[in-house]
Amino acid sequence: MKNILVTGCAGFIGSNFVPYFLEKYDNYKIINLDLLTYAGNLENLRECENNPRYKFIKGDICDRNLIDELFGEFKFSGVIHFAAESHVDNSIKNPSVFVKTNVLGTHTLIDAAKKCWLDEPFKYKDEFRGARFHHISTDEVYGSLGESGYFSETTPYAPNSPYSASKAGSDMIVRSYHHTFGLDTIITNCSNNYGFKQHDEKLIPTIIRNALNGNKIPIYGDGKNIRDWLFVLDHCKGIDLAFHKGKGGETYNIGGRNERTNLQIAHKICEILDEICPKSVSYKEQISFVKDRAGHDRRYAIDASKIEGELGWKADETFDSGIIKTVEWYVKKYAK
Ligand code: NAD
Repeated sequence: MKNILVTGCAGFIGSNFVPYFLEKYDNYKIINLDLLTYAGNLENLRECENNPRYKFIKGDICDRNLIDELFGEFKFSGVIHFAAESHVDNSIKNPSVFVKTNVLGTHTLIDAAKKCWLDEPFKYKDEFRGARFHHISTDEVYGSLGESGYFSETTPYAPNSPYSASKAGSDMIVRSYHHTFGLDTIITNCSNNYGFKQHDEKLIPTIIRNALNGNKIPIYGDGKNIRDWLFVLDHCKGIDLAFHKGKGGETYNIGGRNERTNLQIAHKICEILDEICPKSVSYKEQISFVKDRAGHDRRYAIDASKIEGELGWKADETFDSGIIKTVEWYVKKYAK
């Protein structure tokens, strides 16, 4: 049995990843370290709580003593690092926690991994040979695109928000631990995820919740900001492939080739709600434009050909199929 440390699993993506991973592999025990900030909810992992190959530990990735103790006790043979402050709007209001968690927290974790796994730079201890640190990052580190072009792994970093800048900083630390110390690292940079268990504050749950409550559906600016949407389980499958088959020190972009404006997303969700929860007028009547987010990036789009070509990844879900399941899931959640 291999123990792996997976951070931040009470959040959106981690809580989709854990059940997928436990089901697929029976030779891993997952230790989930999560601080349970406002964004973490153990309800998201109820289906795993009695699984003997899953253990939850409440704690902060910035707490070096705790992290060293966990590495000592569990002798992790890998780390998959999701934990982060993840909401751009919050990073505009309070950037400092983003620097602390995303930059310093990532450094604390990877430095503890280095200390536990290596005798000296480029020399793994025998018992930790093959141990890998996989850092989960975002396409937002690349900045904003014009009407054409895609982000590839060689696109220069140009983060624009305190969130993306803190993620870019964490990516750079991970990169440096590979180059300087020979740590086996992987970075995956993914586009916007959608699916079950996402926090209420994010775009898709916000649209659905306000629609169902008869409130205005707030859309930033002119609604024409474009994101590349990926169903969360397709992201999890990409992480699994990169963790197991990726080449050490490499970065892989993961994205769905599903570009949509925010207004198209709102329209699509309203059309689905018009079908499954009809009322006298369309939910589209509730769409309302609000003052734009400061520094709002215009367009993100991922070129996923490296992970597709080298690791055989492909998205199983189309946006049209994934968004229906997603809306149905939140309709049930908000009906409770
Ligand atoms: P989330 O905000 O839903 O969850 C984050 C989790 O991290 C929460 O459970 C929270 O309690 C935990 N956490 C926060 N600070 C912590 C700390 N100091 N110590 C321990 N745990 C802490 O985030 P998410 O959407 O699931 O994103 C997970 C990762 O994926 C992040 O690194 C994010 O940057 C990246 N990512 C997200 C998306 C997306 O569309 N959601 C896209 C690309 C990359």
